[in-house]
Amino acid sequence: MTLNILFVSSEITPFAKTGGLGDVGSALPRALSSLGHKVTAVLPRYGSIPKKALENTHRQITVALGGESITAGIFKGALDDKTDVLFIDQPELFGNRPNPYGDDKGDYPDNDRRFIFFNRAVIELAKSLSNAPDILHCNDWQCGLAPLYLKLERERGNLQKTASVFTIHNLAYQGHFPKKSFRLTGLPKSFLKMNGGVLHHGKLAALKSGILFAGAVTTVSPTYARETILPELGFGLEGFLEKRGGSFCGILNGIDTDEWNPEKDPLIPQNYSAKNLAGKAACRKELLKRFELEDNLARPVIGMVSRLIEQKGFDIIEAAADDLLKLDFSLVVLGAGQKEYETFLRKLAKEHPGRVGAEIGYDNALSHLVEAGADIFLMPSRFEPCGLNQMYSLRYGTPPIVRATGGLNDTVTDWNPATGEGNGFVFEKPSPDEMLEAVDRAVATFGKQDEWRKIIRNGMNADLSWQASAREYTALYHSLL
Ligand code: ADP
Repeated sequence: MTLNILFVSSEITPFAKTGGLGDVGSALPRALSSLGHKVTAVLPRYGSIPKKALENTHRQITVALGGESITAGIFKGALDDKTDVLFIDQPELFGNRPNPYGDDKGDYPDNDRRFIFFNRAVIELAKSLSNAPDILHCNDWQCGLAPLYLKLERERGNLQKTASVFTIHNLAYQGHFPKKSFRLTGLPKSFLKMNGGVLHHGKLAALKSGILFAGAVTTVSPTYARETILPELGFGLEGFLEKRGGSFCGILNGIDTDEWNPEKDPLIPQNYSAKNLAGKAACRKELLKRFELEDNLARPVIGMVSRLIEQKGFDIIEAAADDLLKLDFSLVVLGAGQKEYETFLRKLAKEHPGRVGAEIGYDNALSHLVEAGADIFLMPSRFEPCGLNQMYSLRYGTPPIVRATGGLNDTVTDWNPATGEGNGFVFEKPSPDEMLEAVDRAVATFGKQDEWRKIIRNGMNADLSWQASAREYTALYHSLL
């Protein structure tokens, strides 16, 4: 049976993206459409999304927000010829802001108002559709209240056939706001509590609401699902997740195999395939030129594309830097984030001209060149719900070095020269020594051409598409109906 799915996300590429959520918000709806479902994605219309590119449906919804009545327009766009996107257009809260969450000064101070409004608007939108959705699929804290609003609507006799799914893309971002923001939610007072309510340690907690009130909760890899019910990676929500029992599971993300395809990628200087890797050498040359690094064929280029934050293991790299640079490789890093890591990387590049290159900023085209031009990809995350870059690197013939956590553990297997199995290099503990050992092994194996080709092929030939995941989501949806 094909389903009618309303897929709600605060990021959908190419309209809005600050991280992996944007990629998933675009690829998963399209993969579900390709299985025959009728999928409509929903996104706020941020200022960066020009109205003139969209169709005005001339429909409006009105939402009560802390005693005010706020109206929004509905605009329409598309992800492909089967997948529509409905944009909630509210100038004061979204349209007049260039970015989804904040600017140079930090998060917008009224993110509570903005996203409480968005959640309520989604429910009003669902109610206004001529064909009510079977599934309301909400993502991350930005949509965490919608499952609760849906539950309350159902108790009032509305949206009776709609079930909700809530997907956690990163448990570290929980959407906490002062308790007084509860006033804006319009929720019954009975939810102003910790147990069975939307409070968590005295704060209004949007992610927790999704965990408690959705029909089913998922996260983006099976390993991360197992890790998040433990205190180390549960960020205080482990108990609530564990309580969900069988209605909490991990479904591995796929990648957009059209956008990330070395055979067709228009953003790299030469295309290549697993059968013919010649173009990869041209990409490598271009990458070294771009970062003004020495062109030494015997010295592998290790690439990184990442937000520069502790989660991604930059503190481990910083601690290991001196020993790391005793090994023979070049390093290119593209990233932006915490100032201390930006400073550290700039300094490292300055101290090692010709060997270390750092580009501080966000640059999609350059991220494709790094994936294609590097020989090895490094992703030593402390935790990683799924991670996309290691999958891009597998597809681009750039074996990844990763820590065995979350989705990294589910997608990268350690190279075993005895069996010829493995597509990268895996280390267990988030320690400089273990990372160093893995880098050392990768650099040494790079010198063994036959082994290296096999590792590359193992990675490039793997199925990383969304099809398998979309089928798993479909099975989950059906189990709720
Ligand atoms: P996260 O969502 O935690 O940042 P993921 O690996 O899941 O990590 O996804 C990151 C996404 O953002 C990838 O598509 C990656 O290519 C992209 N990305 C991250 N930093 C940059 C950057 N500085 N420039 C270009 N793309 C980036």
